[in-house]
Amino acid sequence: MSNIYDCIVAGSGLSGLVAARNLSRLGYRVLVIEAQNRIGGRMYGEYLPSGQWIDRGGQWVGPTQDRFLALLDEYNIRRFPTFSEGKKVLLFNGQRHEFDGFFQGFYEGEAPNVSEEEWNDAIKAWESFDSLAQSLPETYPFGNNDYKALDDRTFAQWIEENTHTDFGKWYFSYMCRAVGFLGPTEPGEVSLLHLLWGHKSASQGEHPEAELLHGGAGQIPAKIVEELGDDHIRIGEPVIHINHDDDGVEVHTTKAKYSGKYAVVAMPPHLAGRITYNPPMPSLRQQLTQRVPMGTCAKLLISYDRPFWREKGLAGIGLGNCQWIELCADSSDPETGVGVIATFVVGDRYKKWCVMSQVERRSGVLSDLANYFGEEALSPATYDEVDWPAEQWVGGGYAGFMPPGVWTTFGQALITPVGRIYWAGTEMAERWAGFFDGAIRTGEAAANSIANLL
Ligand SMILES: Cc1cc2nc3c(=O)[nH]c(=O)nc-3n(C[C@H](O)[C@H](O)[C@H](O)COP(=O)(O)OP(=O)(O)OC[C@H]3O[C@@H](n4cnc5c(N)ncnc54)[C@H](O)[C@@H]3O)c2cc1C
Repeated sequence: MSNIYDCIVAGSGLSGLVAARNLSRLGYRVLVIEAQNRIGGRMYGEYLPSGQWIDRGGQWVGPTQDRFLALLDEYNIRRFPTFSEGKKVLLFNGQRHEFDGFFQGFYEGEAPNVSEEEWNDAIKAWESFDSLAQSLPETYPFGNNDYKALDDRTFAQWIEENTHTDFGKWYFSYMCRAVGFLGPTEPGEVSLLHLLWGHKSASQGEHPEAELLHGGAGQIPAKIVEELGDDHIRIGEPVIHINHDDDGVEVHTTKAKYSGKYAVVAMPPHLAGRITYNPPMPSLRQQLTQRVPMGTCAKLLISYDRPFWREKGLAGIGLGNCQWIELCADSSDPETGVGVIATFVVGDRYKKWCVMSQVERRSGVLSDLANYFGEEALSPATYDEVDWPAEQWVGGGYAGFMPPGVWTTFGQALITPVGRIYWAGTEMAERWAGFFDGAIRTGEAAANSIANLL
């Protein structure tokens, strides 16, 4: 019996590590199996030669992400406010505006210098969107027939009907592509219900990007594994098959076979669907895992010897309908003195960008940054690209999203365990889905459910 684990966790992202750690703290014998040769999934960072860290995956935390904040406190990880003093830059249709406010699913301070008609169009539509979202209950968006009409429509249809200016239309598609609206993706690909629910349960109005972590989020997986113990994790071993019955589970990897009482599959739904199961998954679960694509996003981290934009009174926050960069932000750690801009190439822009040469990609990105912050942006100390859609064990970023019809038809299958197999992963969180906080919640929930049965 010595090789029988109480629980085997497939996936060493934050959700899987938290599930394993919580069960281990209760005295249960756990094993985490990870496909890649590194741990952490979308929580993944490194140090630059300058001593500055970069987070290649997620990096920010907000004041209402209480599960993530609790975890940071447990591991004594210090936070600092994301730098936002000074003017933001809007580059819209080739015009550059510096302004004192901010708008990103909320607006505060001074409006950018677009026409009154354009600004009012965006604000009025935002108010309608917000009030429709607030009318949803604080639960998963399925199991209620009223949701069907919202789920059958794309966000692009809603934008078309609710805005009439170029700025209004761009603002909502930018929110869908660049901001943490559970994707990111193009508005024509995603269910209106998904975005409404995303805004209700993981709102930008709660400032999820308010703080950064000294040392970066990428340090966290190693801390959890240190607590778990190295002998409780296998890396470089993709799980390929799981047998399960009333007595337990048998997890097959490319290298070995492990027996356990329960399993947690802690990964995005499309990857859970790549594993084969015997007996096979129920039909609605099989169909669900074919229908939750990952957002289309590359992350770029560009470092400079100092945050030069601050010398010009700029906050290092740029947004606009540029060729490649619709959103960028200052991610410099005040303790290193190095300047870091984190940015993304997303949606249709990514699809064109990813097939260009590395030289062209870099020059396109730096040229957009120079338009936001000045010529100094053309000479970075380091330039890092993380092509998330090319990562076969994640497949995109920031997270998976629901195309039209998926929530109301297949939503229940996202969260329902099958026999002794439980699911975890940020995509199935009821609060802060798509974020670290959501991943933790699902890991905790899976561990609780299994602990109650052991
Ligand atoms: C570019 C980017 C920016 C982001 N920014 C933020 C942010 O600022 N703040 C925030 O809160 N969140 C952010 N996120 C989201 C956050 O990173 C995720 O929500 C979280 O890390 C997901 O954790 P997870 O455990 O659900 O999944 P994952 O991290 O995807 O973990 C799944 C793991 O399963 C492994 N795996 C897959 N298939 C198999 C298999 N067959 N066998 C074994 N292992 C397998 C994978 O290799 C991976 O390690 C960002 C994400 C990205 C990509």
